[in-house]
Amino acid sequence: MTKNDILELKQLLKDPKNIVIVPHKNPDGDAMGSSLGLYHYLTALHHNVDVIVPNDYPAFLKWIPGDNSVLIYESNVDKANKIIDEADLIFTLDFNALHRTGEMELPLTESKAVKILIDHHQQPDSYAKYIYSDVSICATSQMIYHFLEMLDTTKSITPEIATCLYVGIMTDTGSFRFPSTTSITHRVIADLIDKGADNSKIHNNVYDTNSFNKLQLLGCALNNLKVLPEFNTAYITLSQEELNKYQFRKGDTEGIVNYGLSIDGIKFAVIFIEHKQEGIVKISLRSKGDFDVNNLAREHFNGGGHINAAGGRSSENLDNTIAYLKSILANYKEELNS
Ligand code: 5GP
Ligand code: MN
Repeated sequence: MTKNDILELKQLLKDPKNIVIVPHKNPDGDAMGSSLGLYHYLTALHHNVDVIVPNDYPAFLKWIPGDNSVLIYESNVDKANKIIDEADLIFTLDFNALHRTGEMELPLTESKAVKILIDHHQQPDSYAKYIYSDVSICATSQMIYHFLEMLDTTKSITPEIATCLYVGIMTDTGSFRFPSTTSITHRVIADLIDKGADNSKIHNNVYDTNSFNKLQLLGCALNNLKVLPEFNTAYITLSQEELNKYQFRKGDTEGIVNYGLSIDGIKFAVIFIEHKQEGIVKISLRSKGDFDVNNLAREHFNGGGHINAAGGRSSENLDNTIAYLKSILANYKEELNS
């Protein structure tokens, strides 16, 4: 984002506008934290702001300040389309291509609103007039903080904004442990705590509100964990039957893939989750070092993301999808063993 972009945006934000904020489908902590953080900031400036999420999000995020004002597109299509149609500005957060919003892709594409992309995923599309893309930053929520810095307005960060941004940075960095966490991240976090984010309470709200079933499902996943030592790879599967057995709820499988990566020597970890209703297998990929799962997900699993964390899907069944992964691993043997 250039200095001139910032000047133009300051001008655009000078008087009240209809503003829509949209994160990606299956919103995670960073998607919700960045969206609601920006929501509070713009609302305080007397804009008319709507956060519209493509579909529902996990219960462990349903306490974030502003949560009750979020509109779920899937269950409010007409209302949401009208709001999008009347928008002057649309902020698209934490994704790099409009198809990442699922059914919202068409109304967003057709909208005449000025679009602003703020995101940290690889290879962003160029649908937005203003683009703030930085793949080196750990979380879009941290980018919202920097965006407020560029607007010269971090002093307007309230405890609500601080809480939202803290959630996003904490969840996208695996609680400040992934390599994308920098000293700048810690400085931003320190300032958010100074401005009213209750770090211990936030951690508790997100991570210590597990259900018994969720832990049983984790046990099942760990039982299903397989290691392919010749490729320094580990994978986990969860079938629809297993998900049903433990009354799977949105968010229950988040983070499980990291257990594969926690095994000594493992460089590449995958989780395959069967979604019978949608007729797909959802895939999460994680890696250590320079093994690039963004490329692998783009090439083989209809997805993408970051170098060390990406997602994708397959329309084959669970067994065929696993067989496919095994069949392509030989192509990466050298990288996985270097
Ligand atoms: P997860 O495995 O947690 O769903 O996603 C890991 C990372 O990859 C997240 O940053 C997520 O936004 C991104 N991601 C997941 N699925 C896709 C996809 O289909 N396309 C792209 N470009 N990114 C994805
Ligand atoms: Mn993110």
